[in-house]
Amino acid sequence: MFKCYKTILFSFLTCTHLSAAILVVNSVDQKENELQVLDNAKASYVSTTDLSKVLTSRLPYMNKERMKMVLYFSDTRIKISSNSSYVLVDEVVYHMPVPAKDNGVDIFLPTVPIFNILKQTVLPGITYDAIKQRLDIDVVEFNITNLGIEQKANGTILSIYTRERFYDGHISSFEHDNGWFYLTVQDGIVDTTRINKAETRGVIAKVTANQFAESAQISFRLRSEIIGHEVFQSPDPNAIVVTLRTPFDKSAERIRALRDRWQLDTVVLDAGHGGKDGGTVGKSGAKEKNIVLDITKRLGLLLEKKTNINVVYTREEDVFIPLWKRTQKANESNGKIFVSIHANSNPNRTARGFETYLLNQGKSDDAIELASRENAVIKLEEHSGNKYKDLTGENLIMATMAQSMFMKESEELAALIQSELGNRLDSRNRGVKQAGFVVLIGASMPNVLIETGFLSNPSDEKRLKQAAYRQQIAEGIFSAIVKFRSVREELLAEG
Ligand SMILES: [Zn+2]
Repeated sequence: MFKCYKTILFSFLTCTHLSAAILVVNSVDQKENELQVLDNAKASYVSTTDLSKVLTSRLPYMNKERMKMVLYFSDTRIKISSNSSYVLVDEVVYHMPVPAKDNGVDIFLPTVPIFNILKQTVLPGITYDAIKQRLDIDVVEFNITNLGIEQKANGTILSIYTRERFYDGHISSFEHDNGWFYLTVQDGIVDTTRINKAETRGVIAKVTANQFAESAQISFRLRSEIIGHEVFQSPDPNAIVVTLRTPFDKSAERIRALRDRWQLDTVVLDAGHGGKDGGTVGKSGAKEKNIVLDITKRLGLLLEKKTNINVVYTREEDVFIPLWKRTQKANESNGKIFVSIHANSNPNRTARGFETYLLNQGKSDDAIELASRENAVIKLEEHSGNKYKDLTGENLIMATMAQSMFMKESEELAALIQSELGNRLDSRNRGVKQAGFVVLIGASMPNVLIETGFLSNPSDEKRLKQAAYRQQIAEGIFSAIVKFRSVREELLAEG
């Protein structure tokens, strides 16, 4: 691998003065250079300025006041300081047995140690002969180039990328009881600076790569014990793949399940009424079922166009859909929120504005009246049999209790809807209320029912008949859903 050229022997026997030189021979083009050396009785020191000139193409950075230097070898930085025995290679510390020196204009490094460090890190192709004071440079490519670490539920996979397939018998691995896992590759020439920079994850806490004379070693410090490992080579791309098996990570699985449950990826939009159930009707003939379907479609379009949220509609046409089918569809589609859209009515024609309801036992007379009207549709459902059983009294309490796990989120969503509609609509914000809506019972997700306005009120009815006003309603609800999602995502990111 390392070619050895026999060229003219430089004799330094005549060197009685302090300055001498190391012959540098590049085996590719046979070019020769010299590195200035400071010799004393104990050790030989090589000029850093010369090292940089001969071995790299980039100029070094020098701080003469503090006698510090940075050498650049492609994207690796090597930092040295006079009077220090430490060399930093991309923040990895290498130690030399004696410190660096300077003569006021240049830093000198102990010759053998610095060549060893360079060979281990950025210049695998150098060979130094201390007796002949000769440095051979051969272009040697790293054959172990990079490391990837992947975390799985039941272990960690290491992919050690290589430029060639190694003889299987040249790869050895073992888990030491000191908590490290070692991989040694005979004839491996490892890009240590690159691999030492690999991002750690999974069971791997730390990675250290070392280049030895005839092998490369990568050491992995483990966060926890492993129950077994396998090593194999895979082609395309060439890699040594190591699987480190750990006990099945239930917590990772649980977090994923929780994340899936929380991810606001599907919204169920429920346009109230439809078909033979027209809902309420305004004085000038506006029908609730048509107005709310139009708002629902506008809202769905915004969600489909501007987000990657999947939209599920309980109805897209003027058709009759029983209440139980609406929530069933919501649950089956794995919806994350359920939004039912309606228009209101009141014997008192001055009542106007928009309000958002949560499922609960209605406390006020108005709420009871509204719930019984919105629930009246059940009578129109043929063969509904005992699907709703007796949704009064205790049964309603039970149903609302089941809802309570989504209550906090339903409340948050309702509050956002009211505030976003309030920012846009020229009508009264009547706030968040509670009532016993059957359509919300059984939806296993946060759910709300929006009464967008009163068709019994002439000015609300006039507005609801305008497409621009219905678009504003859709935009308000859209904005609330997007905000609700980002709050959830922040919570997920923290968790
Ligand atoms: Zn309605």
